[in-house]
Amino acid sequence: MGKIVRALSEDGSVLCIAVDSTDIVNEIFKIHRTTPVVSAALGRTATAAVMMGSLLKNKEDSLTLRIDGKGHCGMIIAVSDYMGNVKCYCANTNVQLPLNSKGKLDVGGCVGKDGYLSVIKDMGLKEPYVGQIPLVSGEIGDDITAYYAISEQIPTVCGLGVLVDRDWSIKKAGGFLVQLVPPINEDAIGIVENNIKNITSVTEMMEKGFSPEDIVNKALDTLNPSILDSWEVGYKCTCSRQRMKKALISIGKSDLQELADTQENIELSCHFCDKKHSFSREEIKEVLRNSNGG
Ligand SMILES: [Zn+2]
Repeated sequence: MGKIVRALSEDGSVLCIAVDSTDIVNEIFKIHRTTPVVSAALGRTATAAVMMGSLLKNKEDSLTLRIDGKGHCGMIIAVSDYMGNVKCYCANTNVQLPLNSKGKLDVGGCVGKDGYLSVIKDMGLKEPYVGQIPLVSGEIGDDITAYYAISEQIPTVCGLGVLVDRDWSIKKAGGFLVQLVPPINEDAIGIVENNIKNITSVTEMMEKGFSPEDIVNKALDTLNPSILDSWEVGYKCTCSRQRMKKALISIGKSDLQELADTQENIELSCHFCDKKHSFSREEIKEVLRNSNGG
C-alpha cells in the first residue's frame, strides 16, 4: 500500500500533502506492463491524482485527471476517490525513448505538450466541475502547478517523481503538494519558497530514506507544522460484471446485434485493471431487449 500524509503550518496558512506511491506505481507497472518512461508518466499522474483526490469533500466524490499532450503514450486518464485511491491507464504503454538532455526519463517527450490537462471533479451535482489548462511541459508536476494557479487560483507547488529500477520495476515513487491557504501570510510564503528551493527531487529524498512525514516536515520547516492525518492509499479498480454489462450497450445496438448473431460469447477487458469480463450470447440478447424498452 502507499501512504499519504497531510500537514498544516502552525499559522494555518500553508498546507502540505506528501505521498509514498511506490507500491501504487509498481501495481501500474504489473497491470499495464509499462516501459520505464510510461511508468514515469502514468505514475506521476496517478500520484498527483492521489493527492488531489484527498482534497475532495465527500465520500462519493471522484476526481479524473486527463492529460492529452498528443505525445507517444497517447491520452492519460487517472481517476481517484476522496480517500486518494487511484486507477489509471493510457493509450500506448509500450513507448521507448532516449533519455532527455538532463539524463532523465523523457516524460515530457512521452506525454507531449501540444494539448491540455483537464481536471474533472464529480461531486454528485448535475454537472461535474471541469477545469482545463494548456499543458506547460508534459512533465506533469509543472502542469499540475499551473492548473492550480490558472484554473483554481490557488498558489501551489507540485513535485512528482518515479525512479525505475534496472528490471523496470519501480524503486521509488512519490510526490508532494504545497498549497497556500487564505488568509495569505507573506512571511510564510518566503519561508516555504526557500524550503522548496532546497528540495532536490522527491525520489532523491526517498532514496535517502525520507518518509512522507519527513517530506512534509522539510517543506514546512521552521513553520512548526503539525500532522493533520495520514492513511494508506492503493491502486483500486471498482469495475464489476454488472457495470461492464451496462457498458455493452455503448458498443451500439446494430454492432451488438451482430455480435449476438455471430458469437457464442464476448469478452471485455477493463481499461484500468485488465480484468476480463465475459458475456454469453443470451446475456447480450438480454441487454439488447432491455435497451429496446422491454
Ligand atoms: Zn477494472
